[in-house]
Amino acid sequence: MPDQPRFAYFNGEIVPIADAKVSVMTHALNYGTAVFGGLRGYWNPDHEQLYVFRPLEHFTRLRNSASLMRMHVPQTPEALRDILHDLLRAEDYRQNVYIRPLAYKSDEKIGVRLHDIGDALTIFAVPMGDYVSLKGLHCHISAWRRVDDNAIPARGKVTGAYANSALIKSDAVLSGFDEALVLNEDGHVSEASAANVFIVRDGVVITPPINANVLEGIVRRSLITLLHDEMGLEVLERNIDRTELYLADEMFLCGTGVQLAGVTRVDHRPIGSGEIGPVTEEIGRWFMDVMYGRVEKYREWVSPVYATETVTG
Ligand code: PMP
Repeated sequence: MPDQPRFAYFNGEIVPIADAKVSVMTHALNYGTAVFGGLRGYWNPDHEQLYVFRPLEHFTRLRNSASLMRMHVPQTPEALRDILHDLLRAEDYRQNVYIRPLAYKSDEKIGVRLHDIGDALTIFAVPMGDYVSLKGLHCHISAWRRVDDNAIPARGKVTGAYANSALIKSDAVLSGFDEALVLNEDGHVSEASAANVFIVRDGVVITPPINANVLEGIVRRSLITLLHDEMGLEVLERNIDRTELYLADEMFLCGTGVQLAGVTRVDHRPIGSGEIGPVTEEIGRWFMDVMYGRVEKYREWVSPVYATETVTG
């Protein structure tokens, strides 16, 4: 199986990846004026099907991000999903993939602004396994603060804002941790460098609200439904204090990239028993079953790329 894409959607058509190139003068490269998404497709060998997780939600968020940055993505979410399916079929992927749509200020112009700059959209997809860490993650509390809505909106998935995520991630890893949890300007927990966070305390699941300078994660939203509707748990969207992290019984991170990863230590303190807890394990199983299209009730969350006649069960 190839580990590099062969094609990209670029300038309105599917082209060889080698032809999907931009100039060093591109506005987005110079000023971070692009917005992006990240989706996954899961290959289900029993169904001989590649399922993309919630593409309409992802493309709606991409369009919203673009609009915050004064860009216009003319295609509807449905049209973008169809373009993505065409791209994945051109690649003929029969393995798990990670998909990157990127709307960017494409004019080759000097000048820091958002208006009167042309924009463009590209999509590519790379093979990516579904590696999930079996060991619990050890996080620290980052010394960096999360970007604020009044500086660069975290809900916007703006490329320039990922300098904040990159500072957070590298300082965590180079200090010997796996990941970091980041406080917002209020001093409340926002999220990890590129994932949302949940804690479990006394049987209640808690995650920061969407106005805590978090990305409005599509996995986050999906897990809230599964935790409540399928596992019968109370889920609260409310601010989380730093010290609540230390006292949590369980903690996990979630997102398209990280998938679902248990956190077992924060700042050298064990979370709960210091092992992955039962809620994290159970929601992790739900997550995988839903993503692979194995749960009939949530089949509408996954979008089949290949003709559905081949689906057998
Ligand atoms: N927060 C940040 C900062 C992220 O980059 C991501 C990954 N897109 C997430 C949360 C998780 O979002 P999603 O579930 O939509 O992948």
